[in-house]
Amino acid sequence: MQVWHYTCERCGHIEPADTALWRCPVCGGAFALVGDNDLAGATIETQDTTLWRYCHVLPANRDSAVSLGEGMTPLIRGEIAGREVWFKHDALLPTGSFKDRGAAVLVTHLRSLGIQRVVVDSSGNAAAAMAGYCAAAGLECLVFAPRATSPGKLVQSRAFGAQVHLVSGSRDDVARAAQDAAAADQGAFYASHNWHAVFVEGVKTWAIEVWEQLGRRSPALAVVPTGGGSAFVGGWRGFQAVPSRLPVLVAAQPLACAPLVAAFDAGLTDVAPVAPGTTIAEGTRIGAPARGRQMLAALRESGGWAEAVDETTLAATLKELWAQGLYVEPTAAVGAAAFRLAVERGRALPEGETVILLTGSGLKATETISSLVD
Ligand SMILES: [Zn+2]
Repeated sequence: MQVWHYTCERCGHIEPADTALWRCPVCGGAFALVGDNDLAGATIETQDTTLWRYCHVLPANRDSAVSLGEGMTPLIRGEIAGREVWFKHDALLPTGSFKDRGAAVLVTHLRSLGIQRVVVDSSGNAAAAMAGYCAAAGLECLVFAPRATSPGKLVQSRAFGAQVHLVSGSRDDVARAAQDAAAADQGAFYASHNWHAVFVEGVKTWAIEVWEQLGRRSPALAVVPTGGGSAFVGGWRGFQAVPSRLPVLVAAQPLACAPLVAAFDAGLTDVAPVAPGTTIAEGTRIGAPARGRQMLAALRESGGWAEAVDETTLAATLKELWAQGLYVEPTAAVGAAAFRLAVERGRALPEGETVILLTGSGLKATETISSLVD
């Protein structure tokens, strides 16, 4: 376990590791985590087959870990647009999405702080992951979701015993209701996956695993579906932790909601909010991501780019994944679709291996997938 603290990505304000704050009290910016993020090969706990094998660069204690066996998902050889690629199959995590990595480490951290009730705002995979890990930890979980959420999307959280509160209004109204509920309750904590830096530190393990699975070297190119940014910023942090050259990082977004693409192409240092349009990639439909500065810094440091994917390419790419036996939800195909566009447009790609993150299981999206199959 490392010694660490938070720093605001916007104004640099510092908070200690045991703070009950989830964002900067000075400017409202997102916290990044500052601590040891250097994984020399000798410090991997190789007998541990979960992501806790990297406990020396995680901000939570392996001895008190809340674990469902998460981590070490398969790295599978496959093909997109006639090019050989590797798929990191995070749909195979315990609750069916990459968010289990963040939930395992964040719930472990919150339990160590003595938190009894965890409040989240999500209608999808983050709610399911946090509810599942709270169930494993013996903590209560309150999920705030938009009233319009289809009942099927909340079944998993309810099965794990979470209390689900439906809120009318915008996505911001839902977040505010969750924040107010947590603020009014001494034993509760607003543990947003979109804001909490510890969540990202758990998510970074996907990239460290890729490095180990490729024989302790990083790929040349890594393509990541990007909405709130935890998978993308997590990938950046993970590849920074290992003793290899940083891959070119590509953030993939649906064209209907691509605020990062707009900000990157305009050369900005922060992401301006957009009104999200309609897309089958619901998990990346986030108009005002909290980690804009970190995402832009990752793109520039790695020499990467942000790609917007149209719905036709997305649907075609989904079918290409399913045809290879990879049963993923529409959001999970956004990365593969961005790689396909890069190949078709003749973009110069770095020499070497490509890894594409698959973020969530097709079992999460039966209704949408049945409409695409028929
Ligand atoms: Zn600040």
